[in-house]
Amino acid sequence: MKISFIIPSWHYFHNPFKLQPYWEMYYATILEEQFPKAEINLHDLRNVKEEDFEKKVNEIPQADFYLYWVMKSGDALEVYSIVKFLKKKFLKSTHISGGTHVDMLPDECENYFDKIVVGPGEKSFKEAIESKIDKKRFISNYNDYPFLDTPFPKRSFLPENSVISNQMFENYGSPRATMVYFSRGCFYKCSYCVYNVPNSLQVKSKQRMLEEINYLKNEYKVEAILLKDEIAINPKKELFERQMAALGESQILWRGQTTSIATLEQLSKAKETGCLELSVGVETIDEGVMRIINKQWQNQKSIKSFIDNAKKVGIKIKVCLIFGLPGEPRDIVEKTIKFLEETQPDYVSLSGFCPLPGSPIFKDPKKYSIKQINNDWSKHAHLLYRFSDEEEVGIPFEYEANASWGKAFTKKEIQANIVQVQRWLERKSMTY
Ligand code: SF4
Repeated sequence: MKISFIIPSWHYFHNPFKLQPYWEMYYATILEEQFPKAEINLHDLRNVKEEDFEKKVNEIPQADFYLYWVMKSGDALEVYSIVKFLKKKFLKSTHISGGTHVDMLPDECENYFDKIVVGPGEKSFKEAIESKIDKKRFISNYNDYPFLDTPFPKRSFLPENSVISNQMFENYGSPRATMVYFSRGCFYKCSYCVYNVPNSLQVKSKQRMLEEINYLKNEYKVEAILLKDEIAINPKKELFERQMAALGESQILWRGQTTSIATLEQLSKAKETGCLELSVGVETIDEGVMRIINKQWQNQKSIKSFIDNAKKVGIKIKVCLIFGLPGEPRDIVEKTIKFLEETQPDYVSLSGFCPLPGSPIFKDPKKYSIKQINNDWSKHAHLLYRFSDEEEVGIPFEYEANASWGKAFTKKEIQANIVQVQRWLERKSMTY
């Protein structure tokens, strides 16, 4: 039996090799244990140029099962087209997909894939592969798969230069680095977000974290890791201590993303364990917008104090902001620049808002005065990556002119706001 995981091009990233296909490697590792006799591989399309794309898809070798983990809706159209092509070429092949996009839009996905996995894939991929009955949807619950003791992904599914990068920490001497997840999910409910699945934080055991770091150090000489966890600084004491103990004992450098809810004591501990930088999903500095997007658990004061505390302990801070969120006042550019001047974070990453399919805003656009959302998913990938002149600003939606909070920005105005602040950030050398 041949099983092939297909990794799409991640066309929306300036450099897709700065991140790694963690979940594809994770599920391939689990499938290898479940099907010891199967031939399992990953087919990586990340390095494929647009003009060569068709040729490269045509070179994908035959397999019995093609698997896909569609995290971002921005990949969906490309993946659908790969499925269509391979199904035509290999008539007996079966195409199975899971991931956030599938969780959010299962009805749509059922039209493109033979079978879909809704929820975690630890058991469902196996079931979908083995199932002989006419069943499309394989559903499992995250509560039954707590992530605690699951194996770490084997990186040997891909060549070393596809899983190790020295560009991930280019501001810190370019050590050999890769990314990990020590937890999955998030317990908040920000109304623009789809990455809070499960809606709790499932954290790995200390033993598993240590095993993974030791494997990366021994096999790949990794010196630094990027924690892709939604919340690297866990507010729960026991979970925070567990994670920091593993990182500290491993003597590895790290950076991660987190919320602005972290105490001075936690930041100090993080620094001791090798933390170089934290990206913080502030998203907006306007408290009216924070209320509308259900992020009122932070405010300007808490963000300022977080940045101050990080400075005190020597952790660099990257503030992540989104322009175009519902409720923005007309002076959002001036307010944002003033806030950044006052707080002086080290870096800022500014994105355009995208109503991600499956998010509360996407499900109820009227509530947020959104007139229309573009259903071309290839435009839906602008929430998380850094804006630069070469990147397309999507803004795949439009507000009512007179929104519930007053006069809303037009698409063009949102783009102009982004460009204005981006240029300001460039002048201040605050982007990377
Ligand atoms: S945006 Fe971040 S903090 Fe908010 S729900 Fe999503 S993952 Fe959690």
